Amino acid sequence: MTRTAFAALALLATLAVAPAQAQQPVLNLYSARHYTTDEALYANFTRATGIRVQRVDADDAGILARLKAEGSASPADVILLVDAARLHKGEVDGLFKPVKSKLLEDALPAAYRATPTAEGTAWFGFSTRARVVVYDKQKVKREDVDTYEELADPKNKGKLCIRSGSHPYNLSLFAAMTEHLGDKKTEEWLKGMVANLARSPKGGDTDQIKAVSAGECQIAVSNSYYVARLLRSNNAEDKALMDKVAVVFPNQTSWGTHLNIAGGAVARHAKNTAAAVKFLEYLASPEAQAYFADGNNEWPTARGVKVNNPALQAMSGTANGSFKAETLPLSTVGANAVKVQQMLDRVGFK
Ligand code: FE
Repeated sequence: MTRTAFAALALLATLAVAPAQAQQPVLNLYSARHYTTDEALYANFTRATGIRVQRVDADDAGILARLKAEGSASPADVILLVDAARLHKGEVDGLFKPVKSKLLEDALPAAYRATPTAEGTAWFGFSTRARVVVYDKQKVKREDVDTYEELADPKNKGKLCIRSGSHPYNLSLFAAMTEHLGDKKTEEWLKGMVANLARSPKGGDTDQIKAVSAGECQIAVSNSYYVARLLRSNNAEDKALMDKVAVVFPNQTSWGTHLNIAGGAVARHAKNTAAAVKFLEYLASPEAQAYFADGNNEWPTARGVKVNNPALQAMSGTANGSFKAETLPLSTVGANAVKVQQMLDRVGFK
């Protein structure tokens, strides 16, 4: 059984949607956003609209599997996923109901939305995150880790910590690499990273950063918002941790740092389509967008929203917090994921 299928079964066995409370309109949300700061976002939506949000939390693959298994009986109205490849997969598998919303089209640049069809747009991206490199500033030279390619260089042997290769954050990064390097070189690159591992992949992104601080490894790969969260922490342990490490946005002199996207869609069998669209429109509002930036340290996607987050600014190492981001059509990245998983299996990237 594949990991995904197993996760889906485990999910079906353990999760159940609680019965809706009478009177107040209810929106059923399936969310892969695992951030406690989002609670305030949903509460604000309820205050503004009177619509209560009933949430089921699971990871991206679990949500897609659940939607498939439930079919037309699914109670889901709206879906939030944290990875471009998964958003694309949900679209391709017909799990979303395309939406026509002038508000969303005006608010979000085309690059952060699914390609529209006659039916509408299948999904909308509300925030971005960068896949950055964190390193021990005593033991590693910045110029040795300022490209993704160097993660596989023999000079970094025994130094690398990274979460599972099959995790969507990595799958999307690797899928993007195949666009830049081609299949053959990407597989060699993956093989090189396996050879450079300080330990077998385990844990989440924050665990990789902590492993650098603990001396288990010297180089870690992480999503930017985990780094910013630690940078903003008042916890003495986190402060000591972040004093030891530095952050680099890779590939600034070539194709730019890999960006991933978190976004949402209306469920194919939504019973409350109007409320679901209202919810997505709320997420594109300046108030909600500011929340992604300040609450979860992501970059907002809506036009004209200013980021006011010192940690995000400090992290990029540039005066205005800007950096060069990779630009690739998200659909290509999504389509490469299957091929990349086969490469991971061949090179033994767990
Ligand atoms: Fe995450």
